[in-house]
Amino acid sequence: MKIFVASEESDNRIAVVPEVAKKLIALGYECVVEERAGANAGFADYEYENVGAKIISRDNDLKLFDVVFSVNFPTLTFKDGTIIITSKIIDLSLCKKQKLTVFSLNKIPRTTRAQYMDVLSSQASLAGYKAMIEASHEIGRAIPLMMTTAGTIPAAKVLIIGAGVAGLQAIATAKRLGGVVSAFDVRASAKEQVESLGAKFIEVKSEEKIDGVYAKEMGEEYKKAQEKKLREILPSQDIVITTAQIPGKRAPVIIKKDMVETMKSGAVIVDLSVSTGGNCEATVPGQTVEQNGVKILGFNNILDLIANDASRLYAKNVFNFFELLMSQMEIQPDISKINDDIIKSTLIAHNGNIYNT
Ligand code: NAD
Repeated sequence: MKIFVASEESDNRIAVVPEVAKKLIALGYECVVEERAGANAGFADYEYENVGAKIISRDNDLKLFDVVFSVNFPTLTFKDGTIIITSKIIDLSLCKKQKLTVFSLNKIPRTTRAQYMDVLSSQASLAGYKAMIEASHEIGRAIPLMMTTAGTIPAAKVLIIGAGVAGLQAIATAKRLGGVVSAFDVRASAKEQVESLGAKFIEVKSEEKIDGVYAKEMGEEYKKAQEKKLREILPSQDIVITTAQIPGKRAPVIIKKDMVETMKSGAVIVDLSVSTGGNCEATVPGQTVEQNGVKILGFNNILDLIANDASRLYAKNVFNFFELLMSQMEIQPDISKINDDIIKSTLIAHNGNIYNT
C-alpha cells in the first residue's frame, strides 16, 4: 500500500513527521512525502529519507497512491477510491466526483476509546498553551508577582473563558508563568478541573446547567447572568483568553464591544474561537486590532506558530486512526459497512456517497 503525504497550502503543519513515517514503513507501507512538505514545521526532506521515505515533487503521478494523509483537504487529483485521512475543509463535490474515501478526524467522538486519535484535543491543547505565551508577549508587563528594590509588581490577572481542552492548558500555562488565574465554563464538570489547576472558578448564578462534555447554546437567563458577572470582572483583568465553542454551531459572542471599553488600557484579549465566529465582538480574523488601548488577537491558525509539536501530535493521532482503520478493513473490506463508532463518525465520503458532513 502506497501512502502519500501532501504539503499543505496554507498551514505550517504536516500530517506525518519522520518518526511516524518510520513506523509506517516498519509496518510494510510505502511512504512518499511531497518535497519540502515538512519544512514549515521544521522537518527537512533528508529526515524523511533517513527513515526510508521517498521524496517526490507534485508533478509526479498522484494516481499511484492508495492513501493520502493531510491536515487540510488536498484539492489534488487522485485515483478513484483513494483513502484521504484529513481533518478539515472538505470539498464534497470533489469527494463525490473522484469517488474518494474521505475521513475527517475533526469528527472523532469525545469518548475515552477515541482519545488517542483525537486531533481536536491534541491541537487545542497546544493552542491554549500558545495563546497564553502570545498574550504574555503582547502585554508589555510581567506576569508573576515581582518584588524588586524599586517596588513590587503585582501578578497579572488572567481570565480564561471556556475551560475545555484549550482553556485548561491556557490556565496551566498562566499558572506556571505566575498569573492570578480565574476561569468559567457552562459545563458543571469544568469547576473541578479548573480548581485542580489552582485557578478560581467563577460561578454564574443560573438554574441552567450542562452535564457531560458537549456544551450547548445557553438560554437568555444564563446569558444575562454571565454578562453581568463578566462586566464585574473584566475591568480588573490584564489578559483574557477566550476558547468557548459549541460543537457544530457558531461560537457564542461573550465579550461585546462595549465590554472591551471597560477594560484596562494595555490589556490583551486572545480570541481562540475565530474559526467558528469568535467570542469577542471586536475580534478581526487574522489580525491584531486595538480598541480603547486593548489589544485583541484574532489568530486564524495559532498552530502555525507551534507547527513542529502540533505536527508531531497530529501525526500520532493520524497513525493511531490509520491502524484502527486497517484492522477494521481486515474484518470488513467494505468501508461503508464497518460497524465501529469511530470509523462511522469520521467517514465523510465513500464511493460517490456522502456520509457525515
Ligand atoms: P470545545 O472546544 O467544543 O469548547 C471549549 C469550551 O467552551 C468547552 O469546555 C465548552 O463547555 C465551553 N463553552 C461553550 N459555550 C460557553 C459559554 N457560553 N461560556 C463559557 N464556556 C463555554 O470543547 P473541548 O475543549 O473540545 O472539550 C470540552 C470537554 O470535552 C472537556 O471537558 C474535555 O476534557 C472533554 N473532551 C473529552 C474527550 C474524550 O474523552 N475523548 C475528547 C475531547 C474533549
